[in-house]
Amino acid sequence: VQSQKAQKIDLNIDYPCPCRRRGRLVPIVLTEAFGCNRCQQIFVVHDNGYVIEQLSTNYPYKQAWRWTGHQWNKAYSGLRDNYLAMGGVILSVLLISFFLSAIGLNVNPFNLAAILLVLLIPLIVWLAYRR
Ligand SMILES: [Zn+2]
Repeated sequence: VQSQKAQKIDLNIDYPCPCRRRGRLVPIVLTEAFGCNRCQQIFVVHDNGYVIEQLSTNYPYKQAWRWTGHQWNKAYSGLRDNYLAMGGVILSVLLISFFLSAIGLNVNPFNLAAILLVLLIPLIVWLAYRR
């Protein structure tokens, strides 16, 4: 059974790259970052040294990993992902209020706030448990 506990990333050690090209992460001198010798990606160390985050614009969201001592485990997917979720909530609220007015219900600000709360609570719980 492999330990899933995150270990602190040592900038003086070479790690394998989380890309699937068997690359090595080489520390970049005087920075808190690694560069891969195969995929040419740069990974910045975050969360007091427990997470590396990919410095990339190739993905709609940032990718991050934690080191378990044996391998990289996918960590959170970065802030942009959360913004997308927030955008989804706002869109849902708009759609619901459109729907409610379409079926003849007047949406007053109190109803809208209630709908918003019902949608936001699961989102907040979801975000809290993701970390
Ligand atoms: Zn790589």
